[in-house]
Amino acid sequence: MPDCELCGRSADDMYVVEVDGVKMQVCRACTRHGKFIGKVRREQPTPIRKPHKMTEEEEEVEMLVPDYGDRIRKKRNELGLKREELAKKLNETESVIRRLEHGDMVPDDKLVRKLEKTLGITLREKVEVKRPEAKHDTQEGLTLGDVVKIKKK
Ligand SMILES: [Zn+2]
Repeated sequence: MPDCELCGRSADDMYVVEVDGVKMQVCRACTRHGKFIGKVRREQPTPIRKPHKMTEEEEEVEMLVPDYGDRIRKKRNELGLKREELAKKLNETESVIRRLEHGDMVPDDKLVRKLEKTLGITLREKVEVKRPEAKHDTQEGLTLGDVVKIKKK
């Protein structure tokens, strides 16, 4: 908080006055000691402006392949495993396997890793996600709506 250059008091509102030809920042009470010039515009705590870049940010993310169900079923058949046998290996239920194979259930990361390890297949692929840089000086993170293009490698 700025202090009045005349009385030393700190004040929210400061004014500029000219005293003997010298401009000073003073409190309201001290404005009477000089020639009133104007009010001091308080600096607003503005966020630091980053230069607006036109480039797109690219990010590589690992995503579940869309045909994970087919891959699981195919590999299970290759290995000559029944659903219940695979389920047992994975410590899951047969219905989980069935739903996975039908694409009715999206496995979580843990299950994906178990399936990959047990079956020796890959259920994830790297995709490049392109998204524009935030347009404004916002502190908010990007939302899903900012993901404009998903490109397969
Ligand atoms: Zn003062």
